[in-house]
Amino acid sequence: MIPSWRSLIFVTILGVVGCADEIPPTVSQSPAEGTEVVPPGLASLSPEDRRLVSKQKICPVTNEELGSKEEPIKMTVGNTTLFVCCPGCYSQVLKEPEKYLAVVNLPSTAETPSKP
Ligand SMILES: [Zn+2]
Repeated sequence: MIPSWRSLIFVTILGVVGCADEIPPTVSQSPAEGTEVVPPGLASLSPEDRRLVSKQKICPVTNEELGSKEEPIKMTVGNTTLFVCCPGCYSQVLKEPEKYLAVVNLPSTAETPSKP
């Protein structure tokens, strides 16, 4: 049988809806509060550490978002607790703590610090 124009349109609509319905896979662990989305890299951090990370947002060395790839590394320089994205950045901060502490204290966004 020849399909009618109605069924053709129906199939088209189904296709569009099916596409838009695609949902990215969710993390098996359900969020505790339901207020914030926790990146996979931050899942194993304590709530307090997570709060610090979300305040700091980026690794001062690479400017990459903390926790976007893997668990950030917590470190303390002087009186400041900060997070870096990887062991390489950890040793960078140990080498030039003042430089990177200054970056951390910047009010987020906007400018990228000029490189030496
Ligand atoms: Zn790093």
